[in-house]
Parts: sequence; C-alpha cells; structure tokens
Amino acid sequence: MESIQDVKRVSGGDINEAYLIETTKQSYFLKIHRHMKAHFFKKEAYGLNLLGKKVRTPMVYDVGQIKNDAYILMEAIESGPRNDALCGRALAQLHTDTQSYFGLSENNYLGTLPQSNGPDENWTSFYIHQRLNPLVKMAKEQGFWNRQREKLFGKFIDQFKNEDRAVTPRLLHGDLWSGNVMFTTQGEPVFIDPAVFYGDREMDLAMTKLFGGFSDAFYASYQKAFPLESGWEERVPAYQLYYLLAHLNLFGESYGGSVDRILRVCNG
Ligand code: ADP
Repeated sequence: MESIQDVKRVSGGDINEAYLIETTKQSYFLKIHRHMKAHFFKKEAYGLNLLGKKVRTPMVYDVGQIKNDAYILMEAIESGPRNDALCGRALAQLHTDTQSYFGLSENNYLGTLPQSNGPDENWTSFYIHQRLNPLVKMAKEQGFWNRQREKLFGKFIDQFKNEDRAVTPRLLHGDLWSGNVMFTTQGEPVFIDPAVFYGDREMDLAMTKLFGGFSDAFYASYQKAFPLESGWEERVPAYQLYYLLAHLNLFGESYGGSVDRILRVCNG
C-alpha cells in the first residue's frame, strides 16, 4: 500500500493553492482552486496530455472536486538547472504537431480567462475573431477601453487583415512565459500550465519575448531544429497584443499603457 509520508505547502502560483505530497512510492503535486468546478482543471489536464504527445509534461493522475473546490493531482517535478538549448529544441518538436484547422475541439482557459477555440481555416480571421475580439469585448465591459484605444485597435485590424501569410495550424503551448517551463534535475524541460490550441507557432515565440527569461541559446536551438520564416520578429508585437489584452482584463488599466504602446508599434 502507498502511504503519505509528508505534505508541504508550495508557494508560487497566484491562482491556486499548491501542495507537494511525498508517499512511500513517489511525489505528487496537488493544486486546489477554491470555489471552482472540476471542469477548470479538466481543461488543464486535457492540455497537458495533448502537449505530452510531443514534449514532457507532468503526468496527470486525477482531477475532481471536493465540495466547492476543484483539484488536480499530478506528478511532482524535482527542479534542476535551466537548459535553454533543450527547451528550444523541445518547443520546435512540439510545433511539428499539426492539424487541418486553427483552434481546438473545445474551449479552454488562458490562466483564468476563457479562451474560445471555435474552428477556422483562416489564421487571420481566427486571430481576430477568436483571440483579439473576445478580449476587447471583455475590456469594454470592464471599463478598460476608450476612444483612443479603439482607434489604435481599428487601425491595427485593418493592417493585420491585409497580411496574408500562409500559416499552418500547429500545436501551441499557448501561455509560454518562463514560469511555465520547469526543468528536471537532468535539465529536461517540462511544460506546465498550458492554454493549448492549434495556431501560428510565432505566437509561442512572441510570448517568450514578452516578459523575457529565455536566452539566445533557446532561440538558436529552436531555429536550428525548425527554422522560422523571415520577418517573424516583426510580427512579434502583433502576437504580444493578445497577451497584453489578457493582462489588461486580469489586472486592469495598469496594463493600458502597454496595450497602447504595442498597438502604436504595430501601426508603425
Ligand atoms: P498556478 O496555476 O497557480 O499559476 P503553477 O502551475 O504555475 O500554479 O504552479 C505554481 C508553482 O508550483 C510553479 O511555479 C512551479 O514552481 C511549481 N509547480 C508547478 N507544477 C509542478 C509540478 N508538477 N511539480 C512540482 N512543482 C510544480
């Protein structure tokens, strides 16, 4: 029989309570989200399992609900040194997974924000209608929008519609800031907290550049494994816009300036 030997509270995430549980057999990582339905963590489990086809993710053992609180129980990862070269190669490997349309068979979350994945065969239309517009609508409802922002956004949309690149729908992590990659004691990257969907792989790269933490070795090894199209760096601000709109909705007008700045950069 497997018996519990130790339970430790872990700090870190701002959304969930987390615990490290040591048993006679192995270590588990338990996250609890108060006043939430199990549905929330079912999406996280689905995302982790989907990514797990191509890259290392923690094994999920159970998702459920105790009274009003949702929980997810997964394999605990023992942290080791960061290895950006391996991380770049793993991300390139993840991006080799493709499907025929943009989106996903189900909606999910970006952090705690609903993320709609309604299928679309056109990337430009998917990015505008499934990614940007829902967050702009939410910002308006919350009072985080104004006439000047609307004007900047309108100009951006006009330009973005004119860009007609051929894009292949590729499996994305979807929320790739540096805190969402852990490393094992062997330096193997383990991806956590995804917001998966099939989209333009440049979105994952754009997110890595928003808050930093990924070194040159990361980009060099990604490029070696799966070279990006020329001009990808110019498209970074257009994709960072999605994540900044998410921050505007989550944290309020303190992100308004960053949204306006990135729109100005996009509009040249
Ligand atoms: P939240 O969903 O609240 O943001 P995270 O999933 O980011 O929580 O987890 C918070 C912290 O817990 C992470 O920064 C990481 O250090 C640690 N962590 C996350 N998943 C695991 C795991 N499977 N094993 C060990 N530690 C983990």
